[in-house]
Amino acid sequence: MKQEIRKRANRFYDTSRFGQPQIRVYHRKAVKKKMARYLLKCGCCEQRLEIWYADDGLEIGGVNGTIDDWREILFPLLFVERKGKNLIDGKPKARAKKAARR
Ligand SMILES: [Zn+2]
Repeated sequence: MKQEIRKRANRFYDTSRFGQPQIRVYHRKAVKKKMARYLLKCGCCEQRLEIWYADDGLEIGGVNGTIDDWREILFPLLFVERKGKNLIDGKPKARAKKAARR
């Protein structure tokens, strides 16, 4: 069972949290053989992306892949780094903060 993405107000052009329009997130539960789905809408226009998901697979924008396949692609883009069995925040800012603390 996947963790749910935190609920959002989905206001259009909401820059209050990230300083840029926040992605609008809509969810639909799995029904019979249809997988559960997230619909992501751009915060500034009507561009959209569908993510269909189950425990053993993930389809993003019509592209099908295993969870491990998507991890290999998305983790570097999200600055998620593996350290042994752990995942760490490798975001440039987080890294700089850590270095400053030393
Ligand atoms: Zn947009």
